[in-house]
Amino acid sequence: MPELPEVETMVRDLRAHLRGRVIVGATVRWQRTIAEPSARAFARRIRGHRIVALTRRGKFLIFRLRAHNVPAERYLLVHLRMTGSFRIEPHAAPREKHIRVCLRLDDGREARFRDPRKFGRMWLVDDPARVVGKLGPEPLKISARTFHRLFQARRGRLKPLLLDQTFLAGIGNIYADEALWHARLHPLRRVESLTRAERGRLYRAIRRVLVGAIALGGTSIDVMYTRLDGSSGAGQNSLRAFARTAQPCYRCGAPIRKIVVAQRGTHFCPICQPLGIG
Ligand SMILES: [Zn+2]
Repeated sequence: MPELPEVETMVRDLRAHLRGRVIVGATVRWQRTIAEPSARAFARRIRGHRIVALTRRGKFLIFRLRAHNVPAERYLLVHLRMTGSFRIEPHAAPREKHIRVCLRLDDGREARFRDPRKFGRMWLVDDPARVVGKLGPEPLKISARTFHRLFQARRGRLKPLLLDQTFLAGIGNIYADEALWHARLHPLRRVESLTRAERGRLYRAIRRVLVGAIALGGTSIDVMYTRLDGSSGAGQNSLRAFARTAQPCYRCGAPIRKIVVAQRGTHFCPICQPLGIG
């Protein structure tokens, strides 16, 4: 499932193809992909907009759109959820069956949203805050000081907090496990029991795993995530905990253990990541 590094990679890949292009038409092949407005209104309203910028917020892609002679911007927000991805293909090329939405461009190509499992969603809105307004800060944009402050009034277990998008935006199951391994913190540690030094380790670990994964083009642990050209990322080669059940810990050699936390498979080293304060 795409997380911050995979979405960031997708945005960077798309930018080269889409920035400056005008959307001359849209086809919605699976209506529920369009969360807002209706599929019909989406296709009508998006036509004629130029894509002036592509950015990311948490796990959302954000297309900034501007229509000719209209000062106000509109925004296309996309959440890939489990299996969403984009393809850029000639308009005349056959559309394979998992393509849910096509945005026809003024250069004869189409940006095609491919989504086998159909959980991906798109919003066409005037104010992106209506969709992403409740997200927590971007983990790569906050200072250590701000990070420490995020823990005020937070209670509970550590891994569910990392998955909470109102705490930090963009971290999912893979990078939560990876950050906790690097920080040597047990996924079930009580958040309120963390020392300042431990929070500092966590801050550095989160940044390290996210920056590293972006540099590798994201993590393709299964067929859920592929890049714009259909290739895989390379982040799976540097995983230290995630999907390494029973394999030796890179630090101490103990077998990585898998448990279920917040209904998610959770991987950690029982020696390096003890539950007690350490
Ligand atoms: Zn270990």
